[in-house]
Amino acid sequence: MEKKHIVVAGSGFAGLESAFLLRHYFKDKIKITIVSNEENFLFRPNTIYIPFGLDPKELQIPLKEVLPKYNIEFIIDSVKDVDPKASQLLTEKQKISYDYLVLGTGAAMRPEEIPGLKEHANTIWTPKEMLQLRETIQKIIQRSQEGKSTDLLFLVPPNNKCSGPLYEMVMMVDTYLRRQKARDHVNIIWTTYEAGYIQAFGPRLDEVVTEEFQERNVHGYKEYVVKEVQANKVIYENGQEIKYDFLVSFPPYIASVFYKNVPTDERGFIQTNFNDRTVKGYNNIFAPGDAGDFPVKQAFLAFLQADTVANKIHADLLNSEFNAGFDPVSMCVMEQFDKATFAQVPLRLTGNPQKPIEVDPNRIDEYKVGVSPLWRIGKKMLGMYLPMRFKHAEPFHAGAAWKTMEIGLIGMSSILAD
Ligand SMILES: Cc1cc2nc3c(=O)[nH]c(=O)nc-3n(C[C@H](O)[C@H](O)[C@H](O)COP(=O)(O)OP(=O)(O)OC[C@H]3O[C@@H](n4cnc5c(N)ncnc54)[C@H](O)[C@@H]3O)c2cc1C
Repeated sequence: MEKKHIVVAGSGFAGLESAFLLRHYFKDKIKITIVSNEENFLFRPNTIYIPFGLDPKELQIPLKEVLPKYNIEFIIDSVKDVDPKASQLLTEKQKISYDYLVLGTGAAMRPEEIPGLKEHANTIWTPKEMLQLRETIQKIIQRSQEGKSTDLLFLVPPNNKCSGPLYEMVMMVDTYLRRQKARDHVNIIWTTYEAGYIQAFGPRLDEVVTEEFQERNVHGYKEYVVKEVQANKVIYENGQEIKYDFLVSFPPYIASVFYKNVPTDERGFIQTNFNDRTVKGYNNIFAPGDAGDFPVKQAFLAFLQADTVANKIHADLLNSEFNAGFDPVSMCVMEQFDKATFAQVPLRLTGNPQKPIEVDPNRIDEYKVGVSPLWRIGKKMLGMYLPMRFKHAEPFHAGAAWKTMEIGLIGMSSILAD
């Protein structure tokens, strides 16, 4: 077989998983190049531990050391666009020709679209922002020790595409403040634009969070759509105002790269064909993960999409039938420090822009939720398993290691979720 060149833009979950699964399938029979603006892979889901003391360096994998060892070319450069007619990826410094192109450049935050949010909120996205949140938590503890009360407000605005981590954060903060004996002086308030808590994951997550908020004395408000953030209060579209001393938010999402030469939506997310994650109009360009238009942005879903991409390229190159289309059954473990919540959620698109995703009513038997301190072990296992795989350029979802991990998760969910 002639050596085909697969070019991958982005070195996050989607980019690396696509590249590693292709390397796993084809060994050295194809050429793989990864182009990224970051030297290190960041294990973003575990950045939730940074506000409570974790060193951000522990979440990074140095790709300059790893990738060349496995015969993957690694170029540090900023991707600007694609020239599909010339089959070239356009970067700041060069044009890179490809046979297949994987656009895994992910998402970015746009706090500016809500007046005052950037100026006044502690946001969660980068390790730097997580370190700022660590300082805020320490200030809250100090105020409690001085006997001062604090209003701590959490805010999910519209167009945030992955609210789960902010739910993790409110529950972790609650547990942490209790353990520091600083909770009594803190009034925790939660507001979200969503009609149900963690709306994308359906009614059972709404029930779990409602119970948790009651137990934890968190005052939650749904369908509170933020209008404006001021120095000490948030104003909502429904006319309500809520005062705060500290505000924590996860901003609206946009695409990291606004590609001009491939079809995108108004936020820059690349329009894809659902089943094989190809970019609309092109059969050799793919957009897995946060960069694409799937409405929920999640690492687990990025993995599933990246696997689909690698399987499609594999089938194409071998001239064989492609029968491993994208099946959006999400899985997550939500950390709360005293326990964790596991969810397996079969999703489907609705076609309704107001509520683009729902739990697939035809697959309710696959919708599983469980709350237990033991799920924290599941989260820890995933936190060890993924870096172990990626440090050796191995895909997350393949081989005996994944089979073992999967058996563990299925076993746990048969006992600890229903
Ligand atoms: C605090 C937090 C907790 C989370 N927890 C979970 C969780 O528990 N479970 C879960 O499933 N998901 C979780 N997520 C979501 C998850 O992190 C994202 O969905 C996931 O990172 C998406 O992967 P991706 O590869 O598509 O994008 P990314 O991981 O964002 O990777 C994008 C890549 O593209 C590169 N890039 C960007 N722009 C350019 C450019 N112009 N040129 C070159 N390269 C570029 C970046 O450097 C990066 O390498 C969490 C997110 C946050 C913020």
